Amino acid sequence: MTARLPQLAAMKDECESQSSLLARCNSVVMMADTVMPGLERRLKAQLLGDVAFDAFTRGRYATDASHYQIMPIGVVAPRSIKELEHTLALARQEGVSVLARGAGTSQAGQTVNSSLVIDCSKYLDHLVELDVPGKRCVVEPGIVLDELNRRLKPHGLWFPVDISTSSRATIGGMVGNNSCGARSLRYGNTRENVLSVDAVLANGTSAHFGPAAPDLSDLPAHSPLRPLVRTLLDIAAREANEIEARFPKVQRRVGGYNLDALTPDRNQLNLAHILVGSEGTLAFSTLIELALSPVLGTRAVGACHFGSFARAMDVTRHIVKLRPIAVELVDRTMLGLAREIAMFKPTIDAVVRGDPEAVLFVEFAEPDQNENFRRLLRLNEMMSDFGFGWDKPGAKRGGVIEVLDPKLQNAIGEMRTAGLNIMMSMKEEGKPVSFVEDCAVPLEHLAEYTAKLTAIFDKHGTRGTWYAHASVGCLHVRPVLNMRLEKDVKAMRVIAEEAFDLVRAYKGSHSGEHGDGIVRSEFHERMFGPRLVRAFEEVKARFDPNGFYNPGKIVHAPKFDDRGVFRYAPDYRGDDIRTHLDWSNYPGSGGGFQGAVEMCNSNGACRALKGGVMCPSYRVTHDERDVTRGRANTLRLAITGQLGPDALTADAMVETLKFCVSCKACRRECPTGVDMARMKIEVQAARAAKCGLSLHDRLVGYLPRYALLASKWPRLANLRNDVPRLRRWSQKYAGLSERRDLPRWRADAWRETASFIGVPNARPIALFVDTFNRYFEPENVAAALTVFAAGGYGVHLPKPADGDGRPLCCGRTFLAVGLVEHARAEAQRCVDALAPLVARGIPVVGLEPSCILGFRDEIPALIKSGAAHRIAAEALLFEEFLAREAQQGTLRLPLKPLAKRGLLHGHCHQKSFGTMGTVATTLKLVPELAVETVDSSCCGMAGAFGYGADTLEVALKMGELSLFPAVRAAAPETLVLADGTSCRQQIKHGTGRDALHVARVLAMSL
Ligand SMILES: Cc1cc2nc3c(=O)[nH]c(=O)nc-3n(C[C@H](O)[C@H](O)[C@H](O)COP(=O)(O)OP(=O)(O)OC[C@H]3O[C@@H](n4cnc5c(N)ncnc54)[C@H](O)[C@@H]3O)c2cc1C
Ligand code: SF4
Ligand code: SF4
Repeated sequence: MTARLPQLAAMKDECESQSSLLARCNSVVMMADTVMPGLERRLKAQLLGDVAFDAFTRGRYATDASHYQIMPIGVVAPRSIKELEHTLALARQEGVSVLARGAGTSQAGQTVNSSLVIDCSKYLDHLVELDVPGKRCVVEPGIVLDELNRRLKPHGLWFPVDISTSSRATIGGMVGNNSCGARSLRYGNTRENVLSVDAVLANGTSAHFGPAAPDLSDLPAHSPLRPLVRTLLDIAAREANEIEARFPKVQRRVGGYNLDALTPDRNQLNLAHILVGSEGTLAFSTLIELALSPVLGTRAVGACHFGSFARAMDVTRHIVKLRPIAVELVDRTMLGLAREIAMFKPTIDAVVRGDPEAVLFVEFAEPDQNENFRRLLRLNEMMSDFGFGWDKPGAKRGGVIEVLDPKLQNAIGEMRTAGLNIMMSMKEEGKPVSFVEDCAVPLEHLAEYTAKLTAIFDKHGTRGTWYAHASVGCLHVRPVLNMRLEKDVKAMRVIAEEAFDLVRAYKGSHSGEHGDGIVRSEFHERMFGPRLVRAFEEVKARFDPNGFYNPGKIVHAPKFDDRGVFRYAPDYRGDDIRTHLDWSNYPGSGGGFQGAVEMCNSNGACRALKGGVMCPSYRVTHDERDVTRGRANTLRLAITGQLGPDALTADAMVETLKFCVSCKACRRECPTGVDMARMKIEVQAARAAKCGLSLHDRLVGYLPRYALLASKWPRLANLRNDVPRLRRWSQKYAGLSERRDLPRWRADAWRETASFIGVPNARPIALFVDTFNRYFEPENVAAALTVFAAGGYGVHLPKPADGDGRPLCCGRTFLAVGLVEHARAEAQRCVDALAPLVARGIPVVGLEPSCILGFRDEIPALIKSGAAHRIAAEALLFEEFLAREAQQGTLRLPLKPLAKRGLLHGHCHQKSFGTMGTVATTLKLVPELAVETVDSSCCGMAGAFGYGADTLEVALKMGELSLFPAVRAAAPETLVLADGTSCRQQIKHGTGRDALHVARVLAMSL
């Protein structure tokens, strides 16, 4: 049932002072799980923005980055602040509570509720006003921090609360949580950087919260804030002594309401500060005014190595006396995990010497770099004064590695901010859990506190990894627990209680930067005392007497270990589904598929709008459905029966995955390795098995089977492109956009005339000629053969071992439409044909990234044989092979100067497998060729994706993000380079330019 607000209000009146009953009242709201047809109808009729009340969408908004899950009533993404206000009014009329949401990256469960979710991140993301001389700006709540800082950078400014989730966290969410950055020593928390907030109160009035005279004399007479603030000031004055006694005196205190901002001893009053950190429970922020800072100049970083964790903790309090702007801890476990991750290994190798127990990254950023150097020197001296030396044994082994290269400094930052995700990459069911991860203690107690908390973990048979903000005593540590097990949930409570007692004894803060949410609100009484908690309840009641905004957070919270609101609730089970690929590295049903899906911890790194590739579809649509996290959450709910029967094969699941271009970027860039492209194969397979294939899918999937025939009758096969009516029909009946030319069939398609080309003693390689280059661009095959001949290689051209005249194909098109068994059969033909060559040590070289890298990725997952794995190890892209030869000094290519510029676009799979470096190396072999790489995500074509009538628009928008503008800006004589067949097609369609495979460029320079 859905509790309506008036009824709830009546219940609350009845039990005003009985907090346990109030908690129950709130939990009635929180557990409500019924859609509201009246509200849905009215919202849909009256808003231009997105309104969704279906289970799939609600499911995607049921989690944040915590371990909680609560189904919301519905989801709205308003198009404007006006629409937002209207949405609030409708919700109020219908008696439904509201949950404001930014990126949903909160770790404490404050961004889940059974309310109507209002997503600010999709449309409410404008920079409304920028005052450069005044160093201030006004933004809508949904703007992402990195995006804001990109806009501010040309003006030499930034919003300096540099939180780890800056690539996706919104300013609304940061204000909601009073977020804190690594450099809070210099800049303070969000609260110190917020000038004012415009917000809608629970009763529907809008108000401006900003600086005010202590007697409120400067508030307009009619201001709705006058009576409200008067009461708040009275509460703060009444509780001033208690606030002084019970509010921890550490910088990192974000728990409770900021009553300390209203006490009479303050000579400056800023009313916005009561909203900061209120987790959407008091009002809905619509415009936020921020104080900006000049961007950081040159910096100097010292990586202090310690042979003992305890000593690192002890020395921190001395290091801060050197006035660094950040001191960030990474412990031995995390260093080890980071070393295992391809993205971070080079950073660790560059800045970590030996095998320290802990490293403190100490950052100095004074305007004068000489001053930074002086402080680095003093840091070195301090370390040796404390007895550390590179020549010392055990705990005393240590010293400082100086990092002055800004790129490396940034790489350290990236590695550090990925801390949680690095830890979450463990594949077992037990995972590091957030609940005591956010405590902050005064620095003089840091060593003792960390030792005692580690002892508590030991006592309960678990362990934790330490990292983050040593400078302010706020260390993140998450004990590894399995939230599916009652015994681990019980351990979680005991650990929390013991840990918080410890923190209180040190006069620390239990809520240091991630907020209260469900996980810490319950403990306010223990930490702040009952009197202040009653005062917090009064604040809430004064702002929001009916629990309209995010009920059950900060006050009247449920028990933090109530398994009913867990992501892994007591009845959580994986369905017994049939899967086709190898998921055996993971636990759970479907041969481990469940565990692979559950790797997503909702941290939202895939919502980044720039940098890397992940996730190209989200970058275009800004829709939670179209991001890796949205897809993974939908899959998780589907395979655990939470979206109704047959959810895995439902139309809504097809929609969920429709814009996933299988670029495999998440495979590399998702910090926990969620591989959606591979998961999509399973879903496509389940759908194909249940519903059969559309004509579109048949045309795509069976391409290798009819290609030979089509290439024999190219004029006939190309009629679809040439006859407008056929174009229209192809759109109508096969879903192929009439606006796209399909690749042209060629009469001169590549056909093997021999099984070996070259002189008998030449160094042998095997050239795998893929379906796309064979039939559509045979000149690429010819170019590769020219290069190999010039290099003195003998080229084997493998043929199917089954004697069938049909050429080999890796099976990619079958995988794309879910015909996994057909793909397996194609892959098996390849394995049979290539295995004898590979057994002789002959490498397999190919031109098309998606095919050759499929040999490394999908084929071993399809065929569990030694031969398939050996081929995976020996399958190389054209450039990988040449770069390897060059590196080994065995490449003999007589390349002549080619005085041209080149603009290179990498295929997603090349980026995913980290092979772009070899493309650059190969192109550098060509004298006088100057190549620049486009900072692009997926080109948008992605196999057949760009040809679909219903995906064309998104495909073209993906191209427009950066690739098309870069190609259009290139001079006509610049060579546009792209190894992917579909990338070349997309570039041609989007810009009219012909792009070349790298093999063509090398052949040109011979
Ligand atoms: C891997 C990882 C690392 C993190 N690192 C840090 C860190 O370094 N420092 C740090 O402080 N935090 C960190 N966090 C926590 C989190 O990312 C931050 O608190 C972030 O600012 C939340 O932003 P969001 O847009 O995701 O907010 P959301 O989670 O969407 O919302 C946060 C709160 O604000 C409320 N809210 C959102 N918009 C509004 C609005 N318009 N009006 C009123 N209330 C609103 C919500 O209701 C909710 O209570 C980390 C989280 C993860 C997963
Ligand atoms: S898919 Fe990966 S990057 Fe995205 S939220 Fe999940 S774990 Fe994070
Ligand atoms: S494969 Fe690409 S498009 Fe699909 S979820 Fe991963 S990053 Fe996004």
